[in-house]
Order: sequence, then C-alpha cells, then structure tokens
Amino acid sequence: MSRQPARVAVLAGDGIGPEVTAEAINVLNAVGDRFGHQFVFSSGLIGGCAIDETGAALPSETITVCSESDAVLLGAVGGPKWDNPTAAVRPEQGLLGIRKALGLFANLRPVKLVPALLEASTLKPEVLAGVDLLVVRELTGGIYFGPRQEASADDPTAFDTMLYTQPEIERVTRLAAEAARGRSSRLASVDKANVLASSRLWRRVVTEVVAKEFPDVQLEHVLVDAMAMHLIRRPSAYDVVLAGNLFGDILTDEASMLAGSMGLLPSASLGNALNSYGHPRGLYEPIHGSAPDIAGQGIANPLAAILSAAMLLRHSLGLEDEAQVVERAVESVLADGLRTRDIAWGARRIVGTAEMGNAVVQRIMQ
Ligand code: NAD
Repeated sequence: MSRQPARVAVLAGDGIGPEVTAEAINVLNAVGDRFGHQFVFSSGLIGGCAIDETGAALPSETITVCSESDAVLLGAVGGPKWDNPTAAVRPEQGLLGIRKALGLFANLRPVKLVPALLEASTLKPEVLAGVDLLVVRELTGGIYFGPRQEASADDPTAFDTMLYTQPEIERVTRLAAEAARGRSSRLASVDKANVLASSRLWRRVVTEVVAKEFPDVQLEHVLVDAMAMHLIRRPSAYDVVLAGNLFGDILTDEASMLAGSMGLLPSASLGNALNSYGHPRGLYEPIHGSAPDIAGQGIANPLAAILSAAMLLRHSLGLEDEAQVVERAVESVLADGLRTRDIAWGARRIVGTAEMGNAVVQRIMQ
C-alpha cells in the first residue's frame, strides 16, 4: 500500500439513497482489495433524514465531515414527507448548502451509451451510436443566483437576472478545457450570444481562456437553441459541452435521456479546493432522486451510484485505471443481460439492488 487511506464522506440521504450508496461503497472496497488501496468511510446526515434528526437539512457536523474528506459520495435527498414547498427547512437546501460549503462550481455529467442498452433510449440506434458526452455545467452563478423580484399585489412584475462575472466564467472554462484535454480535446461552449449580454461576456471569456491557456483544445461556440436540436439529431458529434447554469440544467436533462434511464447516470461536482492527494475534493452522486416510490424494496438500480464512485476514483483520487475497471465491470454485467427493473429491456435476468452490486464487485475482482 503506497498511498495513504482515502477518506470518503458518505451522505446517503433519503429514499433509495442508502440502498444505492451501500453498493457504491462495496465497489470501492472491491477496488481497494484488488489494487491495494484503503478507503476510510465516515457518514453524515443530509436532507430529510437530517431534518428529522437535527432540524437542519445540512447539520454543521456534516460540513465538517466533508471538509475533512478527500471526496464526498452522496445518495439522494427528499421525499413526500418533506415535500411542502413553503416549509422553512427543505431537503434540497442540504444539497445547495454542501455545494456552497465545499466551493463546488462545476457539475460534470458524462453520458456514455452502453451498447447493451441501445433499446432503452427513445432515439434510433443509428443516431445514438458512438455517443460519449461530458456536459460541464456552471453551478453557482447565472440566473438562479442573480438579483430577482417576486410579483406582488402592489407590483405584478417579476424578474430574474442572468449575471456572470469574468472570474466565474474563467474557472469553469479551465475545468472544462482540462477535461477536454483528457478526452478528444474538443470543447463546445453553449450560449445565447445573439441575444444576451451575459452570453456575449461568456463567449469572449471562454475564447480568451482557451486561446491563451489551452491552445491545443479545439473550441466551437454553439447557440443553446441549436445545441438542444443537435443533441437529439447528432449527439455523437460532441465530446465536452460547456454551459452556464440555466442552459446546462436543461441540456443535461436532455442529454441524460440519450442513455435511456436515469438509474445509469453519475455526476461529479468539482471546485478548486484540493484534497490530500492534490486533486479536487469533489462531490459524487447519481443524477436520479430518492425514488420514494421504490424505496426500501431492494429493487433500485445501483449503477448510477457505482459509476459515481468510478468518477470519484478518477477525479478526486487520480485513479484512472481503477475508474475504468469499474466502468468496464458495469458494461460487462449489462452485456451479460443482468438488469434491474427500470432497465428491463433485453434482460436475461431481473435482479435487485444488492445482486446487481455484487455482480459488479465480482467482475472487478476477476
Ligand atoms: P426520481 O429520480 O427520484 O424518480 C423518478 C422515477 O425514476 C421514479 O419512478 C423512480 O422510481 C425512478 N428511479 C429513479 N432512480 C432510480 C433508480 N436508481 N433505480 C430505479 N428507478 C429509479 O425523481 P422524482 O420522483 O422527481 O423525485 C423524488 C424525490 O427525489 C423528490 O423529493 C425530489 O425532490 C428528490 N430529488 C432529489 C435529487 C437529488 O438528491 N439530487 C434529484 C432529483 C430529485
């Protein structure tokens, strides 16, 4: 064992969060056994379970546990019990709070098509062939955080403001360009520069950063309306796609449908803070929610959580080979026809959460 143990904070959260996170932990332990790495897991409360126990969606102990870790693995938060949108304390405040506390300003969502699941998508197989996208979304700026006004009886006018500063655009561009370098060196930046002033700044800053610091990266600018179309017409034409908060929010959901099921898609949120390995202290989570309709039944698909663990290995621990072993293990169980209920197409055997997790572990240990 040449490396110090990797400290991973586990925020399992609500609903199926604990079920799928348990399988991701098993997978990390299997990687540890095979490659001689050690993981130390510490857990923290977030979301509805944290509200029930402490009254807060993000207790300060959870922030401490995460700040002292090399990476954070998150399940999902929320559920009908805490659904009141007017409640002062709500589960999703935990998510926003932990992103803020850890300075996470970029969300990375890879969308790679698993050949065995071509049937799961609503698009034609020939359109989907070769899809391997990484969407990088700016996470802490833009219209969700700019000045706003709610309409009132006195003034029935409402507005939100799309506000970006040069440093906000620079840092997310660097992260996306760096990611592009590790792939095909192609970067498509999305904006609405024909209409919006904030997009014209976005386009200028992205162009300058890439030209100055990443001359080897091939940059193109795509208007957001055109990108919405291209993503379903010729998604394989793109590699790394960079977008601001609002456009990225919409495009990542659109892109996720290419893969057919949310139960398969991981995500990473990264910032500039480095961990004890000198890599970003990221937060890794499936893109799906807490799925209260199937929670506690042992039937949730753990693959998005497991692939989130693979991203953790890659981005926070610098363990690229190990990440690829996990990704290949997932592809292998799917190619063998193992399916959870949500991806039943082409199933040779429908399995539960634990059985799917165990199958991935077995492939890793082979
Ligand atoms: P959801 O993603 O939880 O579920 C949508 C549908 O997909 C459901 O039918 C569910 O059973 C299914 N599904 C989701 N993940 C699955 C998996 N791993 N395996 C099998 N099936 C899966 O979205 P929702 O129903 O809109 O939201 C439920 C709760 O989750 C809400 O309280 C919402 O606020 C919360 N939520 C949390 C996050 C997060 O923690 N990041 C994200 C989205 C929604």
